Amino acid sequence: LSKAPPTLRAVFEGLIGYGGRDALVYQGERISYAEQHRLVAHLARHLADEYGVRRGDRVAVAMRNRIEWPLAFWAIQVLGAIAVPLNAWWTVDELRYALADSGTTVLICDDERADLIRARTDGAMPTLVAGLDGPPAAGEADLTALLRGFIGECALPDGGPEPFDDATVIYTSGTTGRPKGAVATHHNHTTNLHTMELTRAVALARAGLPTAELAKGPAAPDGSPTGPPAPGSLQVYPFFHVAGLSGLYIGAAQGAKLCLMHHWDTATALELIETERLSAANMVPTLLRRLVESPLRAGRDLSSLTSLGMGGSPVPPDLVALVGGMSGNTIVPLNAYGMTETTCVVVVNSGDDYYEHPDSVGHPVPVADLRVADPLTGEELPTGRTGEIRVRGPHVVRGYWNRPRESEEAFPDGWFRTGDLGYVDADGRLYVVDRLKDVIIRGGENVYSAEVEAILFEHPAISEVAVVGVPHHDLGEEVAAVVRLHAPGAASAAELRGHVARRLAAFKVPTLVRFTERALPRNAVGKVLKRELRDMLAL
Ligand code: ATP
Ligand code: MG
Repeated sequence: LSKAPPTLRAVFEGLIGYGGRDALVYQGERISYAEQHRLVAHLARHLADEYGVRRGDRVAVAMRNRIEWPLAFWAIQVLGAIAVPLNAWWTVDELRYALADSGTTVLICDDERADLIRARTDGAMPTLVAGLDGPPAAGEADLTALLRGFIGECALPDGGPEPFDDATVIYTSGTTGRPKGAVATHHNHTTNLHTMELTRAVALARAGLPTAELAKGPAAPDGSPTGPPAPGSLQVYPFFHVAGLSGLYIGAAQGAKLCLMHHWDTATALELIETERLSAANMVPTLLRRLVESPLRAGRDLSSLTSLGMGGSPVPPDLVALVGGMSGNTIVPLNAYGMTETTCVVVVNSGDDYYEHPDSVGHPVPVADLRVADPLTGEELPTGRTGEIRVRGPHVVRGYWNRPRESEEAFPDGWFRTGDLGYVDADGRLYVVDRLKDVIIRGGENVYSAEVEAILFEHPAISEVAVVGVPHHDLGEEVAAVVRLHAPGAASAAELRGHVARRLAAFKVPTLVRFTERALPRNAVGKVLKRELRDMLAL
């Protein structure tokens, strides 16, 4: 495997070697690596010449997954400016908050975001809009037309970032509170790129599959690769999430074809995997469950898949076996534990080890230092004891943008406090038990919501479930489960309580089971918003 390039610009410069290979595929549109290079060079020059974007300036990107997203991202990185990916699910107030918080000077967005912002601002911020179906408003320019209309060639502008420059301000998912902008340097990202390339290559090699490096094959004279087919991946995660963003540059570094999904749709996902012969996909467990349990899978040829990654929230242990049986071929399952503040992955469980320890997230990636500490005193706890997971390493960000107090709290003495509870076994495997904020304290006993959810998921009638604590006058809190069944009436509350009671101690059995026919409230990546459920149950 190659040495890690020092900056994201250097990563991008290396991509030209993939020539005519497909880089991006989206709703019938297809862009090769050579074409991508040409368009990014053009856009970078345009941002510098027309908008005065310089090294260190913040440029926000507010779009659903579409082809302009990666083009904008690379152009910003080429200039050494700082990309601020904004959540496309946000309301106009949230968007405006993040634009002001990050000190953004230029906005690149899609037509939907432009509609929102236009209605509420005076057009003061220069904006490039993708997918406009009418003329641009004052202060706006048509990004799609700018790219489509460019027929020339141009070189990348000179200059660019240094390895320890800030590259991105990525807002956390906002699962537990207001999103915070984690500031990652180029070095943070390239470390993540390198460790993930290494991790994936080892996992594939162990399963006897060709690694991405081998799959590249030598280049033909026209720049197109020969040999085995190039890797291809389904881009399910939104690019504005750290997992989506790292999927973008990790895929590109392997010369992979990225097939973008605007939003989740099981039928489209299956069709893309089959027709584009995709080798990989990563997503949150909820979506992966929909994929593997879908009746639409029947008759589909999914034999091109060699790796399926999951993470972002606790992965119920039953899922890995379902993934393993998805196609007739070998699929390497990967459970990745990470977060925005660690520029993605910290701990990975994959392949046979994952099948054997389906409840663990595995071992830390080579560069990560892991420690389980008493959440209050910070004192390191011995093997097997549950405490707060803390992480240190070259991929851990330096702090939150504009938030000295929160940064000081979350990154004391160089270790990041994840806010997650877990323990490490004698072999060094990590088990994530729950989020500190989601632990239910029922009459002095700790109930880990993720543990109860995992047991409930084993019940065949359950489609979605979340376990939360609700106030109780005597016990402090009691355990409540919000359940959506595959078919209404397919299981009773008593039956579900009995199912849990057979497996777990009595104090962990939900006293309250609330059925809902609606989908549980989730954020943009698909994580359940438990604070909304708690509010709902408190009414
Ligand atoms: P916020 O910090 O704004 O509340 P968030 O923590 O959901 O949102 P992210 O950085 O997207 O924002 O998510 C990281 C968190 O997701 C982790 O701290 C952990 O709680 C959870 N997580 C990620 N991967 C896994 C995994 N494989 N298993 C269990 N939990 C995971
Ligand atoms: Mg978090």
